[in-house]
Amino acid sequence: MTQLTPEIAQAIQARIRYYRDLGIHDFYRRGEPVPESEIEIVTVTNREPEPPIPARKPTPPPLFPTALVESIPAGDRAAALQAIREDIGDCTRCPLAFQGRHTIVFGDGDPNARLMFIGEGPGADEDAHGLPFVGRAGQLLNNMIAAMGLRRAEVYIANIVKCRPPQNRVPEPEEANTCRQFLFRQIDVIRPQVIVALGATAATYLLGGKSPLARLRGRLHEALGAKLIVTYHPAYLLRDPTQKKEAWKDLQLAMKELGLKASPRPEN
Ligand code: URA
Repeated sequence: MTQLTPEIAQAIQARIRYYRDLGIHDFYRRGEPVPESEIEIVTVTNREPEPPIPARKPTPPPLFPTALVESIPAGDRAAALQAIREDIGDCTRCPLAFQGRHTIVFGDGDPNARLMFIGEGPGADEDAHGLPFVGRAGQLLNNMIAAMGLRRAEVYIANIVKCRPPQNRVPEPEEANTCRQFLFRQIDVIRPQVIVALGATAATYLLGGKSPLARLRGRLHEALGAKLIVTYHPAYLLRDPTQKKEAWKDLQLAMKELGLKASPRPEN
C-alpha cells in the first residue's frame, strides 16, 4: 500500500472531517489502478452519535379553562367545589398566608348558578366569617342582586384572592396569579352563563390584562367560557354613590344576557 506523508495524512483527515460535517460518512479510496485484492474500502465507523431528540416539554395546564372539558353534572358540582376546597387546604402558597389571614374565603352560593360575581379579596368582615361580601360592601352587593330580581343564594360569589390582604391593599400579582387558578377551577365547575367582575382587580385577572375600567365597562366580554361584564366595585360605589346608576346599566346588561326582567333602579 502507498505510504502517506504526515502532511498528506493530515490533509486527508481534515477533508474527512469536512465531509463528515456535511453528513458524508462513507469513503472509497481512488487512485492508481491497484490489484483487486488490495482495494481497501475505507468506512469511517466512528460516526458522531445522532443527537438525542429533545424530550417534549410537558404542556402547561391552560391558563383559562376551556370548554373542552366535559361539564360536571349539576348534582355533582357541590362535591367538585368541595374537592377544590380540599386541594387548597390550609394554603401557604403565597405571602398572604403569613400576613394576618384568619380564614380562607373560598366562595359562597349556588354551585349551579348562572350568574357569578367576583370581587378583589376578603376584607376584615369576610376574613372573620369565612364568607365573601358580608361587610358594608356586601350589603350593597346584596341590594344589587335583589334589584336584579335574584336572591343571593341563587348566584355564586367569590374573589380573585381567598385571603385578606393586609390593610385591604390590592393583591400583588404574585398573590393574585397564585390564587386565581383555584377561582378558575371553581368557574369551570359552575360554568356560569354570566360573570360580573367587580372592580379593576377582578377585571384584570379575569380578562388576563390591565385596561382602564372606563374602557371595559358597558359591554360584553367573552372570558372563561362565559359572558363577562365589568362594573364598579361596591366599595367604590359606597364612596361615590353617584356612580350607582352607571353600575345599574352594567347589571342590566347581565340581566338581558340572562333573560331577566328589568326592575326599577335600586335606591341604595
Ligand atoms: N371586597 C371584596 O372584593 N371582596 C369581598 O369579599 C369583600 C369586600
